[in-house]
Amino acid sequence: MSNQSGRTKRIYTSKKRSANERRRGISILLVEDNPVNQMVALRLLEKQKHRVLVAGNGREALLALEKTSFQGFDLVLMDVQMPEMDGLEATAAIREKERGTGRRIPIVAMTAHAMKGDKERCLAAGMDTYLSKPIRAQDLFEVIENLAGVTADRLEDASPAPPPMEKVLDKNFILSMFEGDAELIQEIVGLFLAECPRQMSAVREAVERSDAPAVHRAAHSLKGSLSNFAAPGAFQAAQRLEVLGHEGDLSQVGEAFQLLEQQISLLQSAMVEFKKVGVM
Ligand code: MN
Repeated sequence: MSNQSGRTKRIYTSKKRSANERRRGISILLVEDNPVNQMVALRLLEKQKHRVLVAGNGREALLALEKTSFQGFDLVLMDVQMPEMDGLEATAAIREKERGTGRRIPIVAMTAHAMKGDKERCLAAGMDTYLSKPIRAQDLFEVIENLAGVTADRLEDASPAPPPMEKVLDKNFILSMFEGDAELIQEIVGLFLAECPRQMSAVREAVERSDAPAVHRAAHSLKGSLSNFAAPGAFQAAQRLEVLGHEGDLSQVGEAFQLLEQQISLLQSAMVEFKKVGVM
C-alpha cells in the first residue's frame, strides 16, 4: 500500500462561476489505488477546474458517496483493479444503493485491459463507459463532455502515435500526453522515480516466494505506473510478468524479472536525465 492510497483528500479549485460557465468545473470522485495514476488524473482534472476527491479503493469511494447521500458528485472515475474493493464491486454497490432513488451517477471505468472481457464486465457491473489506460487528456475530457456536458478548455488535435518499441522513453510522446505541461511532467516523473523502488521490491519478493497471485498483483501495479510514460520496453516486461503470474506459470518468471530489472534501470537513467535537462 502506498502512502497516498490510504487516505482521501479534497481539493477545491472553483471560485464563483458566471452563468455561462455554469457547467464548468464539476465535482468528480476519482477512485484509483496507484499513486502515479492518481496524480496524472488529478492534475489533468484540476487543469480543467474540476473539484476532485481522491479515493484509494472502492470502499473509500462508497464512504465518500454515502457521506453526501450520493449527491455530492457529478461523476465517478473508477479504476477496475484495486485492493479491498475493486471497481466492479464498488459500482455494483453504488447501483444497488441508487435503486429506487431515481438517481444514477455517471461512472467511467478506467481499464488497463489486462484481461479479456474487461470492458464487457465494466458495463455489466453498471458503468456507463470506459477509458483505456494510460489516461490521455483528450479522451478524459471527451468522456466528461459526453456524460456531464462540460466542455474542456483546450483539446489536443490528435492522440499521439505510440512510440517505437526500441525507445526507452519517448519525450515527445510524453509531452503530447500531458499537453506540453512541463511542470506536470516533472512532478509525475519525480513521483514515479520515488515509487519505483517500492514497486520493484514487491515484484522481486513475489518472484522469490514463487507466489503467482502476488507476482500478478505487483506486476500489474508497476505496469499501471509505467503506462503513463512512453516506455514500451519496461511496460512490456512488466506486462509479461503480470501475465505469467495470472496464468500461474512460474517457470519463466526468473528470466522475465531479469529483463524487467534491465528495462527499469534503463528507464530510471533516462528519467533522471529527462528531469535534469527538462522537457522544453
Ligand atoms: Mn488499480
